[in-house]
Amino acid sequence: MARFLDRNNKKFSALTFSVYFLFLSGFLIYFMRHQKNIQNQLKQPIDLVEQTTKTPKAPTQVRWKSPLTTNCNSADLRLRTHLLSMPLRIKQIKAHPTNFGLRLRKDLFSQRLNPNPTVIVLHETVYDLTSAVNTLLTPHPSDIDQVSYHTLVGRSGDIVQLVDPSFRAYGAGHSAFNSRWVFSNRDLSGSLNNFALHVSLETPGDGSHNLDVHSGYSPSQYDALARVLADWMVRYKIPATSITTHRYVDLGGARADPRSFAWSELQKRLTALQLVCK
Ligand SMILES: [Zn+2]
Repeated sequence: MARFLDRNNKKFSALTFSVYFLFLSGFLIYFMRHQKNIQNQLKQPIDLVEQTTKTPKAPTQVRWKSPLTTNCNSADLRLRTHLLSMPLRIKQIKAHPTNFGLRLRKDLFSQRLNPNPTVIVLHETVYDLTSAVNTLLTPHPSDIDQVSYHTLVGRSGDIVQLVDPSFRAYGAGHSAFNSRWVFSNRDLSGSLNNFALHVSLETPGDGSHNLDVHSGYSPSQYDALARVLADWMVRYKIPATSITTHRYVDLGGARADPRSFAWSELQKRLTALQLVCK
């Protein structure tokens, strides 16, 4: 009897091992194919000229007029030294994969797209940094609930990188920049996410409401924001005239962020870094 049980146990173990082995191999093959697909897509040559004939036209927007390029002052060299020598406090926390996607090279209507980021959108978190990070870490299986920014800038100047700039963050819904948008999803409207970089500033404690103003952002926050923007502007050749706000790009009229944003504070820093008013 004991021998009979032992033999059956051995058979059972061999069977369990085979099932595990097959499952693991299947998973590994799936994972490696998925990774290869992503890498192949990223390696394809980029065609910078878009086709738009079949894509529905975005509503006509008043052209974005950048507050960064008017009332220029000369560069503050002490500020430049400060910005270039300050230690950056960067944390990398990966947003949940349901909250970002690949930058598309073709839209819903099979029209060619330039997947390079060409515009930077400023936001604010409304609630604190931890709450914003938690939202991006939460799985959102439904397309309508998905939300993300590439980077968050905390009140103390902490920089949190959540979505790599080579991917599409879902920072804006129904939106466009200078009447340009992209359709990527059958169930959603056109949006600028495919060609945008999104950065969100942590709102001060007195701003967790729907009113128009709050006490604004800290000097450390403007310093860190300037460094984040400088990196993107140089890396992707984005001019200061293409740094805009969620308020401007939103076509639904419901977004007002970033509220109480001092453009002169950002201009001062980007001038010091020789990126505007040259
Ligand atoms: Zn926003």
